[in-house]
Amino acid sequence: MGRFDGRVAVVTGAARGIGFGTAQRFAEEGASVAVIDLDESAAGEAAAKLPLGEGQKAIGIGCDVSDTESVQSAVDRVVDELGGIHILVNNAGVTRDNLLFKMTDEDWDVVMGVHLRGAFLMTRAAQKHFVEQRYGKILNLSSVSALGNRGQANYSAAKMGIQGFTRTLGIELGPYGVNANAIAPGFIATEMTDATARRLKMEPEELRKMNADHNPVRRVGQPEDIAAAAAFLCSDEASYVTGQTLYVDGGAKLG
Ligand code: NAD
Repeated sequence: MGRFDGRVAVVTGAARGIGFGTAQRFAEEGASVAVIDLDESAAGEAAAKLPLGEGQKAIGIGCDVSDTESVQSAVDRVVDELGGIHILVNNAGVTRDNLLFKMTDEDWDVVMGVHLRGAFLMTRAAQKHFVEQRYGKILNLSSVSALGNRGQANYSAAKMGIQGFTRTLGIELGPYGVNANAIAPGFIATEMTDATARRLKMEPEELRKMNADHNPVRRVGQPEDIAAAAAFLCSDEASYVTGQTLYVDGGAKLG
């Protein structure tokens, strides 16, 4: 018996990184999974790698989460092809880091568009099904950068916005059997943090070591660390937990 037997989970930005790790974990625990990402073939390849048992399915869907029509048709496809929707993980993300005086309108708009508008559009489309069936789990990806991070005025604002969004979903949807929570990861070894290293003219390994040396648990995080917390928050064991943001960061922001 898996915790997600008979459930359908949708994970955005799941072609790689934290999203893929989370999709894998849901599949391992019995869910059918829709991998959503910008490029349909990358999403399909990721879906094909998921471990599936009897009766489980995985599909890859190309979708830009910041686009209303693209989101509506993706959610419609999930319901048609997988027979419903029970779990939504709003994980798709981008960075456009720059100090404030160099940050362009586009740097701001792209980050707000993917993180905040994307989470809003996906959640609005999914909640219709959640409310009708009186069951749903929403998990949003925030970040330790929500607490402030040099060069990330846009990303930090979006990630703190995600926390307010999550709290409000908790209040509005709680009466309909829907839980909404967020995870705020610290440094996780993915393509996103490797790209940050390259921008800082460092080797990815060098940036990982620097972060590990300054972290109370002396290591960086892996997608599996986030996936484990995601599985708990989206399971029925967490049905009395809602509106919360769980920092999964090895204690990075403790001081
Ligand atoms: P990643 O760059 O490895 O993966 C992000 C995925 O999102 C990619 O597959 C990308 O194609 C997809 N994506 C981007 N824009 C999209 C759009 N408009 N529509 C659909 N898909 C889109 O990043 P990651 O490190 O795995 O991060 C996943 C989430 O976790 C993000 O929300 C990120 O902000 C957050 N996060 C990451 C870290 C970290 O250290 N890696 C820390 C805190 C929070």
